[in-house]
Amino acid sequence: MNIILLGAQGSGKGTQAQLLKEKYDLKHISTGDLIRKSIAEKDPDALKLKEFQEKGLLAPNELIAKIVEKNLGEGNIFDGFPRTLEQAEALDEMAVIDAVIELKLADDDAVKRLSGRRQCRKCAAVYGTEKPPKKANVCDSCAGELYQRDDDKPETIRKRLALYHEETEPLIEYYKPRNIVHSVDAGKSIKEIFASVCRIIEAL
Ligand SMILES: [Zn+2]
Repeated sequence: MNIILLGAQGSGKGTQAQLLKEKYDLKHISTGDLIRKSIAEKDPDALKLKEFQEKGLLAPNELIAKIVEKNLGEGNIFDGFPRTLEQAEALDEMAVIDAVIELKLADDDAVKRLSGRRQCRKCAAVYGTEKPPKKANVCDSCAGELYQRDDDKPETIRKRLALYHEETEPLIEYYKPRNIVHSVDAGKSIKEIFASVCRIIEAL
Protein backbone atom coordinates (compact mmCIF):
# COMPACT_ATOMS: atom_id res chain seq x y z
CA MET A 1 0.00 0.00 0.00
CA ASN A 2 1.32 3.42 -0.96
CA ILE A 3 -0.28 6.54 0.45
CA ILE A 4 0.64 10.14 -0.26
CA LEU A 5 -0.21 12.65 2.45
CA LEU A 6 -0.56 16.23 1.31
CA GLY A 7 -1.00 19.09 3.70
CA ALA A 8 0.34 22.55 4.35
CA GLN A 9 2.28 23.54 7.45
CA GLY A 10 -0.05 23.35 10.41
CA SER A 11 -2.21 20.58 8.96
CA GLY A 12 -0.57 18.01 11.26
CA LYS A 13 0.69 15.96 8.32
CA GLY A 14 3.83 14.73 10.09
CA THR A 15 1.85 13.62 13.13
CA GLN A 16 -0.64 11.71 10.99
CA ALA A 17 2.14 10.10 8.97
CA GLN A 18 3.69 8.85 12.21
CA LEU A 19 0.38 7.41 13.41
CA LEU A 20 -0.29 5.72 10.06
CA LYS A 21 3.17 4.26 9.96
CA GLU A 22 2.55 2.54 13.28
CA LYS A 23 -1.00 1.38 12.61
CA TYR A 24 -0.47 -0.01 9.11
CA ASP A 25 3.20 -0.91 9.35
CA LEU A 26 4.20 1.40 6.51
CA LYS A 27 7.54 3.00 5.88
CA HIS A 28 7.45 6.75 6.55
CA ILE A 29 9.10 8.45 3.59
CA SER A 30 9.75 11.98 4.77
CA THR A 31 12.19 13.58 2.35
CA GLY A 32 13.71 15.93 4.93
CA ASP A 33 14.56 13.06 7.30
CA LEU A 34 15.59 10.78 4.46
CA ILE A 35 18.03 13.31 3.03
CA ARG A 36 19.55 14.02 6.45
CA LYS A 37 19.94 10.28 7.11
CA SER A 38 21.40 9.59 3.65
CA ILE A 39 23.91 12.43 4.01
CA ALA A 40 24.98 11.01 7.38
CA GLU A 41 25.43 7.58 5.73
CA LYS A 42 27.48 9.24 2.96
CA ASP A 43 25.16 8.07 0.20
CA PRO A 44 26.74 9.42 -3.03
CA ASP A 45 23.46 10.91 -4.33
CA ALA A 46 22.80 12.55 -0.98
CA LEU A 47 26.30 14.04 -0.94
CA LYS A 48 25.70 15.47 -4.42
CA LEU A 49 22.43 16.91 -3.20
CA LYS A 50 24.18 18.46 -0.22
CA GLU A 51 26.44 20.39 -2.59
CA PHE A 52 23.40 21.99 -4.19
CA GLN A 53 21.98 22.85 -0.79
CA GLU A 54 25.25 24.39 0.36
CA LYS A 55 25.29 26.62 -2.69
CA GLY A 56 21.75 27.66 -1.86
CA LEU A 57 20.48 25.99 -5.03
CA LEU A 58 17.34 23.92 -5.44
CA ALA A 59 18.16 20.22 -5.44
CA PRO A 60 17.42 18.50 -8.77
CA ASN A 61 14.30 16.32 -8.69
CA GLU A 62 16.11 13.30 -10.03
CA LEU A 63 18.53 13.26 -7.09
CA ILE A 64 15.69 13.42 -4.59
CA ALA A 65 13.81 10.71 -6.52
CA LYS A 66 16.87 8.43 -6.50
CA ILE A 67 17.24 8.78 -2.74
CA VAL A 68 13.53 8.04 -2.26
CA GLU A 69 13.74 4.97 -4.49
CA LYS A 70 16.62 3.52 -2.51
CA ASN A 71 14.61 3.80 0.68
CA LEU A 72 11.22 2.45 -0.40
CA GLY A 73 9.61 -0.24 1.74
CA GLU A 74 6.86 -2.76 0.92
CA GLY A 75 4.25 -0.17 1.78
CA ASN A 76 4.99 3.52 2.15
CA ILE A 77 3.53 6.69 3.45
CA PHE A 78 4.88 9.67 1.53
CA ASP A 79 5.19 12.88 3.48
CA GLY A 80 6.74 15.83 1.65
CA PHE A 81 7.27 13.87 -1.56
CA PRO A 82 6.20 14.36 -4.30
CA ARG A 83 6.35 18.13 -4.08
CA THR A 84 6.31 18.87 -7.81
CA LEU A 85 4.79 17.34 -10.93
CA GLU A 86 8.19 16.12 -12.02
CA GLN A 87 8.58 14.28 -8.71
CA ALA A 88 5.08 12.82 -9.05
CA GLU A 89 6.00 11.44 -12.46
CA ALA A 90 9.21 9.99 -11.05
CA LEU A 91 7.25 8.36 -8.22
CA ASP A 92 4.90 6.74 -10.75
CA GLU A 93 7.92 4.95 -12.17
CA MET A 94 8.71 3.35 -8.82
CA ALA A 95 5.42 2.72 -7.03
CA VAL A 96 1.68 2.34 -7.56
CA ILE A 97 -0.14 4.98 -5.52
CA ASP A 98 -3.30 3.75 -3.80
CA ALA A 99 -4.47 6.99 -2.27
CA VAL A 100 -3.63 10.67 -2.08
CA ILE A 101 -4.99 12.12 1.14
CA GLU A 102 -5.17 15.87 1.40
CA LEU A 103 -5.34 17.34 4.91
CA LYS A 104 -7.29 20.49 4.24
CA LEU A 105 -6.91 23.51 6.45
CA ALA A 106 -7.91 27.10 5.69
CA ASP A 107 -4.89 29.43 5.56
CA ASP A 108 -6.23 31.56 8.42
CA ASP A 109 -6.57 28.48 10.62
CA ALA A 110 -3.06 27.37 9.76
CA VAL A 111 -1.70 30.79 10.69
CA LYS A 112 -3.64 30.75 13.94
CA ARG A 113 -2.42 27.28 14.82
CA LEU A 114 1.22 27.82 13.89
CA SER A 115 1.63 31.28 15.31
CA GLY A 116 0.39 29.91 18.64
CA ARG A 117 3.28 27.48 18.69
CA ARG A 118 6.10 27.96 21.21
CA GLN A 119 9.32 26.04 21.58
CA CYS A 120 11.54 25.53 24.62
CA ARG A 121 14.98 27.14 24.29
CA LYS A 122 16.56 24.45 26.42
CA CYS A 123 15.02 21.09 25.41
CA ALA A 124 13.26 22.03 22.12
CA ALA A 125 9.88 20.70 23.32
CA VAL A 126 7.01 22.17 21.27
CA TYR A 127 3.78 23.55 22.72
CA GLY A 128 0.69 24.67 20.87
CA THR A 129 -3.04 25.13 21.14
CA GLU A 130 -3.56 21.36 21.46
CA LYS A 131 -0.85 21.04 24.07
CA PRO A 132 -0.37 24.31 25.99
CA PRO A 133 2.26 24.54 28.74
CA LYS A 134 0.88 24.41 32.30
CA LYS A 135 2.42 27.82 33.00
CA ALA A 136 2.55 30.44 30.23
CA ASN A 137 5.94 30.64 28.45
CA VAL A 138 7.56 28.05 30.73
CA CYS A 139 8.46 24.51 29.63
CA ASP A 140 6.64 21.76 31.56
CA SER A 141 9.54 19.34 31.45
CA CYS A 142 12.60 21.52 32.06
CA ALA A 143 11.24 24.94 33.11
CA GLY A 144 13.12 26.48 30.16
CA GLU A 145 11.90 29.65 28.48
CA LEU A 146 9.45 29.22 25.56
CA TYR A 147 9.83 31.33 22.43
CA GLN A 148 8.29 31.72 19.00
CA ARG A 149 10.51 30.43 16.20
CA ASP A 150 11.01 32.72 13.20
CA ASP A 151 9.39 29.95 11.13
CA ASP A 152 6.20 30.40 13.11
CA LYS A 153 5.82 34.16 12.60
CA PRO A 154 2.63 34.94 10.65
CA GLU A 155 4.36 36.59 7.66
CA THR A 156 6.69 33.59 7.21
CA ILE A 157 3.77 31.19 7.52
CA ARG A 158 1.78 33.09 4.85
CA LYS A 159 4.71 32.86 2.45
CA ARG A 160 5.05 29.11 2.96
CA LEU A 161 1.30 28.61 2.56
CA ALA A 162 1.34 30.48 -0.75
CA LEU A 163 4.18 28.26 -1.95
CA TYR A 164 2.30 25.17 -0.84
CA HIS A 165 -0.78 26.16 -2.85
CA GLU A 166 1.32 26.91 -5.88
CA GLU A 167 3.14 23.58 -5.74
CA THR A 168 0.41 21.29 -4.50
CA GLU A 169 -2.73 22.20 -6.36
CA PRO A 170 -1.23 20.92 -9.64
CA LEU A 171 -0.50 17.62 -7.87
CA ILE A 172 -4.16 17.22 -6.92
CA GLU A 173 -5.11 17.80 -10.55
CA TYR A 174 -2.48 15.27 -11.62
CA TYR A 175 -3.94 12.48 -9.45
CA LYS A 176 -7.61 13.39 -9.76
CA PRO A 177 -8.36 11.47 -12.98
CA ARG A 178 -7.38 8.24 -11.16
CA ASN A 179 -10.06 8.80 -8.51
CA ILE A 180 -7.60 8.32 -5.68
CA VAL A 181 -7.73 11.80 -4.14
CA HIS A 182 -9.46 12.16 -0.77
CA SER A 183 -9.86 15.24 1.41
CA VAL A 184 -9.96 15.35 5.18
CA ASP A 185 -10.84 18.36 7.32
CA ALA A 186 -7.59 19.11 9.16
CA GLY A 187 -9.21 21.72 11.38
CA LYS A 188 -10.29 18.92 13.74
CA SER A 189 -8.33 17.23 16.52
CA ILE A 190 -5.46 14.84 15.82
CA LYS A 191 -7.67 11.92 16.87
CA GLU A 192 -10.59 12.90 14.65
CA ILE A 193 -8.34 13.49 11.65
CA PHE A 194 -6.69 10.13 12.19
CA ALA A 195 -10.08 8.39 12.35
CA SER A 196 -11.09 9.95 9.01
CA VAL A 197 -7.80 8.97 7.38
CA CYS A 198 -8.15 5.39 8.65
CA ARG A 199 -11.68 5.15 7.23
CA ILE A 200 -10.34 6.15 3.82
CA ILE A 201 -7.53 3.59 3.98
CA GLU A 202 -9.78 0.79 5.17
CA ALA A 203 -12.17 1.42 2.28
CA LEU A 204 -9.37 1.00 -0.28
ZN1 LIG B 1 12.16 22.40 27.99
